Amino acid sequence: MSMKGKKHSSEARKKMSESKKGKLNPAFGKPNWNSGLFLGEKSPQWKGDNAGTHSKHTWVVVHYGKADKCEICETKTAKKYEWSNKNHKYRRNIEDWQMLCRKCHLKYDRKNNGYLMPNEKIKYNAQQNR
Ligand SMILES: [Zn+2]
Repeated sequence: MSMKGKKHSSEARKKMSESKKGKLNPAFGKPNWNSGLFLGEKSPQWKGDNAGTHSKHTWVVVHYGKADKCEICETKTAKKYEWSNKNHKYRRNIEDWQMLCRKCHLKYDRKNNGYLMPNEKIKYNAQQNR
C-alpha cells in the first residue's frame, strides 16, 4: 500500500525534474532563443555617434554653459539665446558653434543649413532606391 504511493510520487518527481531541465519546454535546445530580447534592450545604448541632435546640443551647454549673447546682431534684449551649429555636422568642436538669439538662429539656419536638409534627404532617398 505504502509502496504504491511512493512509486507514484517518484514518477511525478521525475516528470517535474524533466520539465525543469527543459525537455518539455518547446524552446529548449534552440540556441539563444531569447537573445533577441537582450539585443532589443541594449540597442538604445549603442547609438554612439548617431545620438539625436538634442544630446549634441547638450554637449555644448555642458562644456561651455548656456548661450547668453548673440554673435550676429549682438542684441542684449533677446528673451532667449541658443547655441547654433554652424554647419549642422554637430561635431564636438567649439569652432563649429556660435551663440545666437532665437531670431538670428532661425535666420541663420534657414540661410545656411535649412536648404541642406531636404537636399540630404533627396540624396538619402536616391541611395535607398538604387
Ligand atoms: Zn541675433
